Amino acid sequence: MAKRDYYEVLGVGKNATEAEIKKAYRKLARQYHPDVAKDDPQAAEKFKEVAEAYKVLSDPDARARYDAMGHAAFEQGMGGAGGFDPFGGFDDLGDIFDMFFGRGGGMGRQQRGPQKGADLRYDYTMEFIDAAFGKEIEIEVPRSETCPHCRGNKAEPGTPIVNCDACGGKGETQQVRQTPFGRMVNVMTCTKCRGEGKIAKQTCSECHGNGTVHRRRRVTVKIPAGVESGMRVRVAGEGEAGMRGGPPGDLYVFVTVKPHSFFERDGDDVVCEVPISFSQAALGDEIDVPTLEGKTKLKIPEGTQTGTSFRLRNFGIASVRGYGRGDQRVIVKVVTPTKLTARQKELLRELGDLASNGQTGENKSFINRMRDAVRGNR
Ligand SMILES: [Zn+2]
Ligand SMILES: [Zn+2]
Repeated sequence: MAKRDYYEVLGVGKNATEAEIKKAYRKLARQYHPDVAKDDPQAAEKFKEVAEAYKVLSDPDARARYDAMGHAAFEQGMGGAGGFDPFGGFDDLGDIFDMFFGRGGGMGRQQRGPQKGADLRYDYTMEFIDAAFGKEIEIEVPRSETCPHCRGNKAEPGTPIVNCDACGGKGETQQVRQTPFGRMVNVMTCTKCRGEGKIAKQTCSECHGNGTVHRRRRVTVKIPAGVESGMRVRVAGEGEAGMRGGPPGDLYVFVTVKPHSFFERDGDDVVCEVPISFSQAALGDEIDVPTLEGKTKLKIPEGTQTGTSFRLRNFGIASVRGYGRGDQRVIVKVVTPTKLTARQKELLRELGDLASNGQTGENKSFINRMRDAVRGNR
């Protein structure tokens, strides 16, 4: 089934203000709340849809991305589009429940199985040249890891794990309460065993029963050649530790590339401007041109005009997709001299006279075209 437009889901216009979006969301969330809309078998799905739409549209960054790209903005594997997952975080509906029912603790049943650890974001700024050729970096990532002492089972090694006495091993407790929507039975996650039904008789001395410990971990990341600002590099399994035996999340390195003082990037090409003198342009010359890897010679032919672009094949940036390499484009700028000696001025005047008497081909055709234009022949 096609995914519905988030604005349509919330029933607001594209220009809706934050307040309007929040209001629409509150109204719908109340309407479709699974505990309230018991007779509507689709309520849970609708509620999720509404919550997802709200999560995106209430976040200015995510909303801007959604406006630009639609649902594609959050598809897995879209280069540079990451950092925000509208589908994540909804296993834990706790915050939404808190908002309407003022209850503490989590949602209960959804939380009992293994759960993948959270993804981590790391922002990394790199030099232009490093981005062009790729670089292996080592970064220090603060994260939670599965406790090495108890291997995440929360019990001191060698001590038993028993049924939780607070919930009798069920992992949840029931509570009847009065809400604006009438009497409701809330099933709550057991706070003592946190929904697991089991509890360590003697908690682990290392993690104090959390199952995870905080560590600053050095992680080596290979940044591929050709990355550009806004791209992200995924390092599988280097995120936060999973819960209840779930796998760890992933680490995403968001890359920012510093501008270069001389080179500019255009796709996989690098572009630079090189100044040459009037006589070099007129007579031709061989000049040194800086490249990403040092310098190379470039032949300037006789009669080169300012702004002419020369192409150095395969002197550009490697494609980040792994095939081919761009070119370097060298744009020459003819510099008009400003401080001339009397002798130089004399020579230039002489040259000017010679040029107008002799009429270079270029000048002649320009004068002819001008004459034609004035006569109105064209
Ligand atoms: Zn319990
Ligand atoms: Zn431990």
